[in-house]
Amino acid sequence: MIQVICRDEAYIYNAYHMTKAFYPSAEVVSRVEEKASNYVTVILDGKTAASVPDEGEKEPKRRIDTVLYGQLAERTGRTLSWGILMGVRPVKLAVKSLDEGMAKEEFIRWFGENYLVSKEKSELAWNIAVREKALLDKLDAKDGYSLYVGIPFCPTVCTYCSFSSGEWSFWKDRIDEYLDALCRELRLIAEASDGKRLNTVYVGGGTPTTLSGAQLDRLLSCIDLYFPKEHLLEYTVEAGRPDSITREKLTVLKEHGITRISINPQTMQQKTLDVIGRKHTVEEVKAAFLLARDMGFDNINMDLIMGLPGETIEDVKDTLRQIEDLPPDNLTVHSLAIKRAAKMERQDGGNAGCIGQMIEEAARSAGRMEMSPYYLYRQKNIAGNFENVGYAKADKAGIYNILIMEEKQTIVACGAGSVSKRVYPDGLIKRSENVKDVSQYIERIGEMIERKKQLLCD
Ligand code: SF4
Repeated sequence: MIQVICRDEAYIYNAYHMTKAFYPSAEVVSRVEEKASNYVTVILDGKTAASVPDEGEKEPKRRIDTVLYGQLAERTGRTLSWGILMGVRPVKLAVKSLDEGMAKEEFIRWFGENYLVSKEKSELAWNIAVREKALLDKLDAKDGYSLYVGIPFCPTVCTYCSFSSGEWSFWKDRIDEYLDALCRELRLIAEASDGKRLNTVYVGGGTPTTLSGAQLDRLLSCIDLYFPKEHLLEYTVEAGRPDSITREKLTVLKEHGITRISINPQTMQQKTLDVIGRKHTVEEVKAAFLLARDMGFDNINMDLIMGLPGETIEDVKDTLRQIEDLPPDNLTVHSLAIKRAAKMERQDGGNAGCIGQMIEEAARSAGRMEMSPYYLYRQKNIAGNFENVGYAKADKAGIYNILIMEEKQTIVACGAGSVSKRVYPDGLIKRSENVKDVSQYIERIGEMIERKKQLLCD
């Protein structure tokens, strides 16, 4: 076990996550000791592995991170491709630099010198920032907004999943009640957003296509009834699990003008799908994709996860070959989150060791499918301290995904567990969270609506 001792709460986040990134499979615990002489001390096997002494400066945070990084890098013989950046949105710094007129080469040098980010990742962040900016410039940041609708049910719950989705079979008798509450919330949002311009809609979850065709039709009709669409640039429904997709449901999506869907395999290796509890086959993924294509869906995303239990680089290459044979219009490549990976590792001999190589393969595959990276984010405890990257063909990028990352526009969210973010003109962001539990959401919908009113009408 590794202990991270910080003199101030403010140093804990970075010190903990940096230590975890250098020692991905170790148990790392952290605590504050106000009387400690060092800003940060890392104890490994009962001995000091790294320490950052107090040198009396006023704002020591950057030095703490840099010194700690240097000592841990020397001790482990490794470097981290994102350097001392531990936050989830590294591209924000590139977007800010771009807005301030910085040139690419200057940014790459600055990013490397100040945050110890590798040249390759600096270049990736910059290229994504350029593409994001071009897309965000089309949006109305002042009067525009986006809508998120959450359906927290899935056919089965995958073993690596950290969302708060419930199994459809458990909730099936209460889904209509859930939709009643959701439609009440949607009506309030529409009233409170009167005069604003709806730019994107994202129906996610969970798996929205666990709803029956009739339920899906009811939900989308509700959105049609309450929200004017003349400024809509994108309408996404995450079909997600191929075992929830039918011709009837895709017909409903088409009838309601959905422009973008996701059909997510995560991997095209059957042995892995069986281990991670997906309960669907590779053939079902292909059949759902080909059916959607045949029905005219021309913007289909597929999600993959790198580092799934037992997968080798050859498995990933084979998955990518099968994806390229389809091929989708967007590819979102995730690195497995370490908390879950560690659990899988114990259970299933998981493989987080060669994720760097796997994500390079995925990037090459995206290139072969004529896709470019357009959004990027990191998660806490992400395996190997890597990132999740969305790739898209020209004009197929998911605008909502960028908005979530860049926080440039208000996103009003409804449904259990959803979080609304109001973005003010000066950049201030206020949030309102709905309860995660489905029963609580149904019972306390009046309270959720009041909270939302306060957020949107203040
Ligand atoms: S289908 Fe997606 S949201 Fe549902 S349990 Fe699996 S990973 Fe989680």
